[in-house]
Amino acid sequence: MFLLVDSHAHLDAAAFDCDRDAVVARAAGVGVQHILTVGTDLATSQRAIELARCYPGLHAAVGLHPSAAERFDQEAAALQQLLDQPEVCAVGEIGLDYHRVSTSPEIQRRVFHTQLEWAAARTLPVVVHDREAHADVLACLRSVALVGAVLHCFSGDALMAEEAVRMGLFISFAGNVTYPKATSLQEIARCVPLTALLLETDSPYLSPQPWRGRRNEPMHLTAIANKVAELRELAVDEVARATSTNAMRLFGWNEGQ
Ligand SMILES: [Zn+2]
Repeated sequence: MFLLVDSHAHLDAAAFDCDRDAVVARAAGVGVQHILTVGTDLATSQRAIELARCYPGLHAAVGLHPSAAERFDQEAAALQQLLDQPEVCAVGEIGLDYHRVSTSPEIQRRVFHTQLEWAAARTLPVVVHDREAHADVLACLRSVALVGAVLHCFSGDALMAEEAVRMGLFISFAGNVTYPKATSLQEIARCVPLTALLLETDSPYLSPQPWRGRRNEPMHLTAIANKVAELRELAVDEVARATSTNAMRLFGWNEGQ
């Protein structure tokens, strides 16, 4: 069995309250030995840290998602304190969302940029959410000297992927890469250099085929790894090895940690 890393999940979600222990055990049972559980505001970031304390192989990201940008001034001080906890290995989920979020782009950019500066000051990588804000996301990322960043659940086009790779960013694919109509995303997953590739489930959202529409969980990362391997005509263990190595390097984890 090969090692897999789920670089983005929300294990704090209420959807896991009934069987979280079993979810983490099932993931480990198929080789998903490291999971980054990602906060989206102060409460979920706190919860991510608590979960990382409870489960070996679970690590926390702390940040304010653009959908919570309006609460930034209230939560900023406490979020910054959380960033100094040893379980925290990234700032996220942060970014820009011009699709679903009604907060003005100006406010979103200020909140995003400030959190990028927090990451740079602590030499932490960042986990980036981008919905229909591609150019502004790249511009913000360029404006701060970061140790590393991943574009989670990549939704850009091939040109953006090329630019992201040139900037040294990681590109992460989620369950939607398995959907039959996702042909342009699949083409990007086929072409991105292996050295820039990460995998994630975004659990409990975005279940891959054939679980689409049901609760997602980290064990389903294998379906995403299989799809990416099939697209690239590689053995799945090669994709697993490359993406795990990338994630462990980005987040600063060691084997067996
Ligand atoms: Zn997420």
